[in-house]
Amino acid sequence: MASVTIEVDLPDGVTITAYERHQDGHGFEVSWPLPQRCRCDRCHREADAHLEFKNTAQVVRDLDIWGQPSFWIYQPPFHRCPWCHYRQDLIPPFKRKEVSYTCRFEKQVVRLLIGSNEEEVARRLGISAETVARIVRQQLAEVKPIDPGRVVTDLGIDELSLKKRHKLYVTVLTDLSNPERPEVLAVASGRDEAAGQACLNRLTTSQREQVKTYRVDMGAPYNKACAALLPNAKAVIDRFHVAKKFNEVVDAVRKKNHARVQGETAQGQAEGVPLPDVGIPPQPQGPVAQGAAEAGSPLRPDPRAGEAVPDPGALPGDL
Ligand SMILES: [Zn+2]
Repeated sequence: MASVTIEVDLPDGVTITAYERHQDGHGFEVSWPLPQRCRCDRCHREADAHLEFKNTAQVVRDLDIWGQPSFWIYQPPFHRCPWCHYRQDLIPPFKRKEVSYTCRFEKQVVRLLIGSNEEEVARRLGISAETVARIVRQQLAEVKPIDPGRVVTDLGIDELSLKKRHKLYVTVLTDLSNPERPEVLAVASGRDEAAGQACLNRLTTSQREQVKTYRVDMGAPYNKACAALLPNAKAVIDRFHVAKKFNEVVDAVRKKNHARVQGETAQGQAEGVPLPDVGIPPQPQGPVAQGAAEAGSPLRPDPRAGEAVPDPGALPGDL
């Protein structure tokens, strides 16, 4: 029997305790260190953690693996306040409250929007355009500092726009130091010099001094911001913008894996495709679309992934 190794990099402290594949999705049961002490949100008193677990499995969307969606699964823990008996959810470090996708999934959404639009990104990830827009707004509202110890040598600044309903322009600062893994560092509203500066100023002075190159769209405002704030960096103009390149790679992988599921061909043609070629049965309302709807709705496990792993404790295949 053949075996396949999946490489997944994980945020600090998060471990995978089990893996289950279900059709075109990958499910990872994850755990993370729980606190010793908790402070109650209602009565504000601190106490030793009185931990309990909900009986349901929480399923959150994470990055794609081989062009297929992956999900993290866990039993949500909560602290029962010994003073007022309030049941306080313990939000895992890899996601924010009341969403069912990881922080790094949010960053990926922003990255994919560069050179694209919300409908296209929504289709590609199997989530709704509304979820894409909500994620961008959440990113804009977030003011998490960039790790001052991070070494950044190459940067990209791009604009993206959301066109549905209220038009929204956003400036995105991307770390291109490792060209194979561009990472979103900061986002700011607008697409002018001030927005570029707002992003760059999230780096410390010494971080900015270490930057060697920056890539920006032809737009002059970002060039001005970079020239002023990146004293030792040179502008690099290339026609094959890294972010666009990344989009192309993602598309290529997805097309290879299941071109017929992407809705690019007529449904009739897909029916003739043998199952092994596409990996999952050709169906327009496929699992991708289902997972999508769920990824956007708060705190509701994806029924499909839930079905794959009804009881996280009983998952086979420890890693
Ligand atoms: Zn309390």
